[in-house]
Amino acid sequence: MKCCQGDTFSDGELQRFGNIELSPSAGILNYGQGLFEGLKAYRKQDGSILLFRPEENALRLRSGAERLCMPSPTIEQFLEAVKYTVLANERWIPPAGKGSLYIRPLLIGSGSVLGVAPAPEFTFLVYASPVGNYFKEGLSPINLIVETNMHRASPGGTGGVKTVGNYAAVLKAQTEAKSKGYSDVLYLDSVHNKYVEEVSSCNVFVVKQNKICTPAIKGTILPGITRKSIIDIARGLGFQVEEGAVTVDELLEADEVFCTGTAVVVSPVGSITYLDQRVTYGKGGTGPVAQQLYSALTSLQMGVTGDKMDWIVRLN
Ligand code: PMP
Repeated sequence: MKCCQGDTFSDGELQRFGNIELSPSAGILNYGQGLFEGLKAYRKQDGSILLFRPEENALRLRSGAERLCMPSPTIEQFLEAVKYTVLANERWIPPAGKGSLYIRPLLIGSGSVLGVAPAPEFTFLVYASPVGNYFKEGLSPINLIVETNMHRASPGGTGGVKTVGNYAAVLKAQTEAKSKGYSDVLYLDSVHNKYVEEVSSCNVFVVKQNKICTPAIKGTILPGITRKSIIDIARGLGFQVEEGAVTVDELLEADEVFCTGTAVVVSPVGSITYLDQRVTYGKGGTGPVAQQLYSALTSLQMGVTGDKMDWIVRLN
């Protein structure tokens, strides 16, 4: 789907996955004017295909587009493009319980621009790929390292939107962490270097005496759809959940830590390394709160439990 600055997107078409043509001076290539989304299609036991809260992805893309001076598809156009892509790739959706189809909507400045400015033309496209677990550990606990030199985002920047450059910013720290055997990096705020922000591709929760806390959304962390859903699910299960500042000390003293995201679902954290200190949670196994929330979320996403919140969109 294409559109020019000040215009609206018009109908798109289905194409076989392959390279797309871009000018060397395209806005995305030179100035990083690009946003993406990530959501999953699940196959239910009875064969039906389910999406989890896709309108939330459409809304997040729209708010990111506003921040990056881009027009964006309407919610209806977004949903239509996602549904069309999923149904066209139905054969790639794994059987129930064996994985999912990851869907990647992408909005880019595709027009040519030489001086720093928004591109004159934009492209919205959606592609998809079957996926299994994000971390090789699966639901086994992951091991994180707290990064104290590099930051993912700063106040007033673009950390709160899903722009491509945010992911370029984490590559170095993530590559170094992985080369040392860690699963991923946990970032701190760039002002005080002591408040927990998030991991490269997921939000963070800490549990202390059965109370659940997660860093508040203040523009430097991504407002995860899984995060928002887990907050509601946990409250529905009777947990006290607080959104606010979480210090690195509170992180290290927690009973349990877990991460949430479309790709990682609910991933328990087995250990965190901060400076030269390594803290192990519980006995290094999956904590009971993470386990309970993982089961509640995945049963809902896969259509095993009833959809009381009206979060599931059935495609067939
Ligand atoms: N933070 C970052 C930086 C992410 O890339 C993601 C994945 N989209 C998340 C958090 C989790 O967001 P969601 O639950 O919407 O997938």
